Amino acid sequence: MRFPEPPPPSLRLRIDREALAGNWRALDRLSGTARAGAAVKANAYGVGVDNVVPVLRDAGCTAFFIAHWSEVGDLLAHVPPEQVRVLHGPVSAEDAAYARVTGVRPVINSLHQARLWLDAGGGACDLMVDTGINRLGLPPAQVGNPLIARLEIETLMSHLASADEDSPQNARQLALFRQLAPQVSARRLSLANSAGVGLGTDYAFDMTRPGLALYGGVPRPELAETIRQVAHPQAAVIQMRDVSAGDSVGYNARFTADRSMRLATVSLGYADGYLRCWSGRGALRFGGADLPLLGLVSMDMVVVDCSAAPGLREGDWLDVPYSLPEAARRCGLSQYELLTMLGRRFRRPD
Ligand SMILES: *Cc1c(COP(=O)(O)O)cnc(C)c1O
Repeated sequence: MRFPEPPPPSLRLRIDREALAGNWRALDRLSGTARAGAAVKANAYGVGVDNVVPVLRDAGCTAFFIAHWSEVGDLLAHVPPEQVRVLHGPVSAEDAAYARVTGVRPVINSLHQARLWLDAGGGACDLMVDTGINRLGLPPAQVGNPLIARLEIETLMSHLASADEDSPQNARQLALFRQLAPQVSARRLSLANSAGVGLGTDYAFDMTRPGLALYGGVPRPELAETIRQVAHPQAAVIQMRDVSAGDSVGYNARFTADRSMRLATVSLGYADGYLRCWSGRGALRFGGADLPLLGLVSMDMVVVDCSAAPGLREGDWLDVPYSLPEAARRCGLSQYELLTMLGRRFRRPD
C-alpha cells in the first residue's frame, strides 16, 4: 500500500532569502579587497543547505566550508566540488580517497593528514595552521616540515579564538599568522570568521569565512547595523483552554494561575530546539501581542498566556521571537546554539 504524503507540520521556519543574500554582500563588502566565503557546516547552521547555498552562490560566493565529509553530498547538489572545503580534513584513508574521487578540497590540519592526502595522490588542498586556538590546525613549529612543502596549497588559513571579544589574543593571532604566511607556499590567505570581519580589514587578507553573521548572528557590535535576521520560526496553536485561579500549568506545576486565564498550547518544545532555558523567560507573538510562556517547556509543547490576543484560535500561527542577539541575551544560550539546535520537525521551505 502507498501512503499519502503527510500533511505539513505545525512548525515552520520562514527564511528571509533577501536578508541572507544581503548579509553575504555586506560581509563581502566589509571584507575590503578580500572575498567572503561562507561557512555552511551543520546544515548551514540549521537553516538548511538547500535553502542557503543556492542563495549564496547566486549572490557571488565561491567558497563553501563544511566540517564533515558526510556533508559533501548536500553541497554538491548546488556547487562544483572545487568550491567545497572540508574543515575537519582527511581523518582516514577513506576520507582522502573520497576527496580525490569527488574533487572536493580537504583542509589539512596535521602532518598525519598531510601524509594521508599525499598517499592518496594529493592535489589542491587548503592548510589550517593553529595560531592559538589550540583546537584544530598544524602547530606553527611544524610548518617547515617537508611534508607541508609537498602540498599544493590553495588557501592558508587560521582561525580566531576570541574575535567576538576585545581580547589581546586577536592581535597576537594576527601577528603570528603574518609571521607564518611567508613560510608556506599558498595562493591565498584567510583568517577571519564573522567576528573577524567585524575586527576590520587588517584581518581579512584574501578571503573571509563568515558563518554566524550570514544567518543573522551579531558577534560584534560593529555588525549590528548591517546584519539582518534570516531565520523566523513559527509554531501553531494546537489547543486553547480556559483555567481558573488556582489551576496549575504543565510538568511540576511550575505556574499557578491567580485569576481566570485563556491559555494556548503551542506545537514547539525542547525537541525542536526551544530549550527549557526559555521557561519563564520566553514569549511568543501574535500580531502585535506578546504571549508569555507559562510553566516549563515540554518536549513538544509550550503553554502561553493569550490574554493579550483575544482573537487567537486553534490552528493560528504564532511567531517565535528569534532575533539572535536579543534571544541569546534572554535565554542564555549562544547565538550559534540558538540557530543550530532548531530541530528537524520544522518545515523549512524548499
Ligand atoms: C565555523 C567556522 C567559521 C565560521 O565562524 P563564524 O563564527 O560562524 O563566522 C570560520 N572558520 C572556521 C575554521 C570555522 O570552523
